[in-house]
Amino acid sequence: MQVFRFTQAKTVDAALEPGGRFVAGGTTLIDLMKLDVETPKSVVDINLLPLDSVETTADGGLKIGALVRNSDLANHADVKARYAVLSEALLSGASPQLRNMATTGGNLLQRTRCYYFRDTNYACNKRQPGSGCSAIDGFNRIHAVLGGSADCVATNPSDMAVAMMALEATVHTQGAKGERAVALDEFYLVPGSTPDKETVLVPGELITYVTLPKPADGTKSYYLKLRDRAQYEFALASAAVVTQVEDRRVRRVRIAMGGVGTKPWRSKEAEAELEGKTADERNFRRAADAAMRDAKPLKYNGFKIELAKKALVRALTVTTTA
Ligand SMILES: Cc1cc2nc3c(=O)[nH]c(=O)nc-3n(C[C@H](O)[C@H](O)[C@H](O)COP(=O)(O)OP(=O)(O)OC[C@H]3O[C@@H](n4cnc5c(N)ncnc54)[C@H](O)[C@@H]3O)c2cc1C
Repeated sequence: MQVFRFTQAKTVDAALEPGGRFVAGGTTLIDLMKLDVETPKSVVDINLLPLDSVETTADGGLKIGALVRNSDLANHADVKARYAVLSEALLSGASPQLRNMATTGGNLLQRTRCYYFRDTNYACNKRQPGSGCSAIDGFNRIHAVLGGSADCVATNPSDMAVAMMALEATVHTQGAKGERAVALDEFYLVPGSTPDKETVLVPGELITYVTLPKPADGTKSYYLKLRDRAQYEFALASAAVVTQVEDRRVRRVRIAMGGVGTKPWRSKEAEAELEGKTADERNFRRAADAAMRDAKPLKYNGFKIELAKKALVRALTVTTTA
């Protein structure tokens, strides 16, 4: 395997070659290389690229470089003040040491924590297309109830991406065909029959930055993560909400769920159920029912449906209570 730094002449070719990978913080990629789950032909170190700043955009939104570390983003004054849900989601993830290494681009592209994906002794269509899925009839307590297929039920583990989904983020990239911007809602793919394809990125395409729109006046946001222990654990269910309430009515709401979907799960059904309604527990519960209406439990993860509903009701209560 060859390792390139982005300053070297052969770098771009190496990044574009099939089986090449970028490395940022390395907290996902190197882990998976040690397990023989990822076996890239070449690795391109992108850490020298000037993509490590957080800036306010001309229209009052935020532009976050792909190499901004998770700790720097979580503790950025503007993020804490205007995008609290993002700061909270980041601080709920991993450990301080990992957050010091992990980057915005790498976090968006972290791989699933499905045990069968991470263990090469088991069949996994995501790791080895066509080999089968050990989770569907296996121990599937941490797996997805939304967006699964007959070939894969692995969850997307990112907390940050759930918050960014509720904040209506856009991912900006650069590749052989130039630059493009993709709404985060369209960035991730559900597994279908090709679970190895997780996003719309093509080989060699680099995430350069993420933008967030300016929050509407009076917006409040919150991230609630429910897990087996209080720290250093992935979500069993989480809810990210961004709400704007006027005279006790929900004028605008954005809702995303983590830990339950094969991708960070935006729930437009729950948003439609709640917008225009009184901000009270009965309507929050209806929105939560709508969010989980299509949920399909497996043998061991049925508890996630009620857990996710409770997370959402609680998060909505927090953001709408003075
Ligand atoms: C023990 C442990 C606990 C964790 N707990 C949590 C948790 O609770 N919640 C949570 O959300 N996360 C958790 N994580 C995951 C962690 O957040 C991710 O590993 C981290 O965010 C990945 O970022 P990175 O920069 O290290 O990515 P890397 O490992 O460098 O890269 C990850 C992937 O992204 C690609 N990549 C990186 N940057 C770019 C770019 N700019 N453009 C295109 N491709 C790129 C790489 O090629 C690779 O495929 C945990 C990780 C560990 C090891």
